[in-house]
Amino acid sequence: MEEIRYALVTGGSRGIGKAVAVRLAKDGYKVLINYVSNEDAAKTALEAVREAGSDGELIRFDVADPAASAEAIQAWQSKHPGEVISVLVNNAGIRNDNLMMRMNYEDWKKVIDITLDGFYNTTKPLLKGMISNRWGRIINIASLSGIRGMAGQTNYSAAKGGLISATKALAQEIAKRNITVNAVAPGFIRTDMTEDLPQDELRKMIPSGRFGEAEEVADLVAFLASENASYITGEVISINGGLYT
Ligand code: NDP
Repeated sequence: MEEIRYALVTGGSRGIGKAVAVRLAKDGYKVLINYVSNEDAAKTALEAVREAGSDGELIRFDVADPAASAEAIQAWQSKHPGEVISVLVNNAGIRNDNLMMRMNYEDWKKVIDITLDGFYNTTKPLLKGMISNRWGRIINIASLSGIRGMAGQTNYSAAKGGLISATKALAQEIAKRNITVNAVAPGFIRTDMTEDLPQDELRKMIPSGRFGEAEEVADLVAFLASENASYITGEVISINGGLYT
């Protein structure tokens, strides 16, 4: 009997996360779609996963909440004894832009809690299973902001920069167990998150002349999740239409 492979995508209900869920489904993964509030979108994402020829389930928790994250993952594990989530895509993230001069502490903290702590809260409970299984893939969705820093995004740049460094550190800890840890750093991708941005203005700065599509990021994530990417770990791979190299 063929082994069932499970992937967990945080923030899998919309945008890049949804595209990743669908792409991994095409590769035969059963996909656990995490979300926090938008249940309708999460259900639509699950439908899309099924249309892609696989199956999955919704797993609601706030990645910023360590106890809730651990509990939800533990509850899934109890219902699936002997099964391992072998691919984790840490994708949930928010932006809340403001100049540092005007940024209040809540705006700083919320972005860090979801975007950076979310990595810890979801990765920690899954590591043991991957280590025992001696195979795993952890893919963190970072950002161009985490590489070069962006004015108006000190909170988001700090969170994504932290996520990149955590990627490099964890990769070294678990490489011998056949677990790779990589980061993907998108530039401007057309999703709800970038809906309010002046696309016509911004695309003039992008050598490719356009925003990227979520599916393009998903293809890169799927490659990093594949067996073919076994020797790539601790890397940050940009996908930004040539915006910054
Ligand atoms: P969207 O705003 O389109 O979707 C965000 C997703 O994250 C939703 O599924 C949302 O769930 C989920 N989410 C938000 N907060 C939490 C939380 N506390 N716990 C669990 N899930 C949560 O974002 P994008 O698809 O654009 O972005 C995805 C990732 O890619 C983010 O990390 C972002 O920083 C990064 N990125 C995006 C870029 C872009 O141009 N779009 C560029 C570079 C990086 P719900 O539906 O329930 O709200």
